[in-house]
Amino acid sequence: MSNNFDKDQATTECNNTSSTGSPYRDQSFATAAVHAGYEQLDHGDAAMTPIYASAAFNMESAVRGDLLAAGETSGFSYSRVANPTVAVLEQRLAALEGGIGAVAVASGMAAVSFALLCAAEGGGRIISPTNLYGASVDAMESFFPQFGIHTDFVNNINDLDEVAAKIRPDTRAIFAESVANPSTDILDIEPLAELAHRHGIALIIDNTVPTPYLFRPIEFGADIVVHSTTKGITGHGNAIGGVIIDAGRFDWTNGRFPQFTTPELVVSDERAGIEHSFASRFGREAFIRRVRIKYLRTFGAVASPFNAYLTLIGLETLPERVSRQVKSATAVAEYLRHAPHVAKVNYSGLGDTAQSDLVDKYYPRGVGQILSFVLEGTEDNVHSVIDGVKLFSYVPNIGDARSLIVDPARITHREVPEEYRIRGGVSDQLIRLSIGLEEPEDLIADLDQAIRRAY
Ligand code: PLP
Repeated sequence: MSNNFDKDQATTECNNTSSTGSPYRDQSFATAAVHAGYEQLDHGDAAMTPIYASAAFNMESAVRGDLLAAGETSGFSYSRVANPTVAVLEQRLAALEGGIGAVAVASGMAAVSFALLCAAEGGGRIISPTNLYGASVDAMESFFPQFGIHTDFVNNINDLDEVAAKIRPDTRAIFAESVANPSTDILDIEPLAELAHRHGIALIIDNTVPTPYLFRPIEFGADIVVHSTTKGITGHGNAIGGVIIDAGRFDWTNGRFPQFTTPELVVSDERAGIEHSFASRFGREAFIRRVRIKYLRTFGAVASPFNAYLTLIGLETLPERVSRQVKSATAVAEYLRHAPHVAKVNYSGLGDTAQSDLVDKYYPRGVGQILSFVLEGTEDNVHSVIDGVKLFSYVPNIGDARSLIVDPARITHREVPEEYRIRGGVSDQLIRLSIGLEEPEDLIADLDQAIRRAY
């Protein structure tokens, strides 16, 4: 039998193709957040998913080893490609987002990079708005071009005429955040998906800010969903991680994506004289298989089983945490609206904003726990507020159980060109908050004293 899968490649078939079709199989979201992807019987009856801290797994016999390496039986052999703890997380997140499979990776940026490169590799183009997380903009603006992948940025991703004008024969993907960070601008995903699909282009959505509890992009046409699980999904600021989830609906054989239709040794059976491309071998799983077999296996940004375990614990309380944070974020935004020295509040969840129709359509449970506001005065006032708060931690993160504060122009969006920053409202007077699980009255009192002292 051919052995075109490396011996160190876990298989693989790797049990992570939760072909659900529906978001949570037959379960409610809260039930799936606790149970999906885990069978106690398969893990020594352990109630909680164990941490499989093992680099490699016994392949048991030469025959089974050959089948594993060929990807013809399921199981684990090497943790750079698949690990049992990580596989539970992958299946759970695929179930929660309504995908057919997922690959967990070491960080949100690994998820963004792998998904975009996998779609656009070999000289493709991406269309994207500029109001994205700073490292994503930097990657597309100045780094991916070094690999021959270019991005056509648009001012307003909800302006379909502007997006359509950028579509070219080599456009492969449209990439956007469902809720932009830090503006909380809402993506009008349904018509964008329709436009993309009319042209045979994949829609890739970074769903980090709302988490699947508030929004599931696949239900509205997304082909690929990525997350920084570091944020709301893990929810306690204790593990960097990311995930790529495949809806399993996109036709990668439509002529725009030669990487899926070109035969490759790694998925073929040389000894039997059988040639395969990712599309011919894996069908509707071609994308997520390519992410694992080419990207994870080559670049190696693998999720550790320990981080997967922390993320699984965090997921169990996702609905409770996010519901409470949405309520508190709304209360804080209401306070800021009437607070002295606050010139503007950005929180699309406030109900009476220009995007309220989109919020009503896509976000019945709220838009999330981050918001931002513009202070009057200068950057000195921003520094005073940041230095003056006592409950908020000054860190470049979101989605933690603790409330967080940051000045995006200097920190999280520092590498974004000024023109894009200003267009996205990321001025030097902007402060971003991520609301945690504390009592909202305490957070408001803390902000109030810090703002008053800053003037
Ligand atoms: N996407 C969004 C929307 C983010 O906010 C971040 C980080 O802040 C990332 C991706 C990158 O995630 P990570 O820090 O886990 O690499």
